[in-house]
Amino acid sequence: MQDCIFCKIAKHELPATVVFEDDQVIAFNDIDPKAPHHLLVIPKRHITTLNDLKDGDEALAGRLQVVAAKLAKELGFAEAGYRTVMNCNEDGGQTVWHIHMHVLAGRSLSWPPG
Ligand code: C5P
Repeated sequence: MQDCIFCKIAKHELPATVVFEDDQVIAFNDIDPKAPHHLLVIPKRHITTLNDLKDGDEALAGRLQVVAAKLAKELGFAEAGYRTVMNCNEDGGQTVWHIHMHVLAGRSLSWPPG
């Protein structure tokens, strides 16, 4: 998708602090962190919202969570705990129209979310 900032980050056309990358996904530090650790794990392929996931996307969707867990261990916050969140559409709080898994850690996170 031509004007998608996360597609551009995935193609290294926009700067980001990348912490993991493979052929399917890329993970980077959120530019406006909401916790001491705040990563975004995204598919390299453009998918606008969670509603656009199709049969056949199971491996890709699962890969986001597997990479989040792997990074939690590597970055040292797996044991203390963390939260993964994917926001969908306006009521879900989505502001960037390329699906992304937030990984938040480094402080006690309240529940329920606002
Ligand atoms: O779930 P939501 O769509 O609101 O999250 C988008 C996230 O993308 C925000 O946390 C924002 O700080 C982050 N962002 C970023 N780099 C950009 C633009 C947005 O990390 N260039």
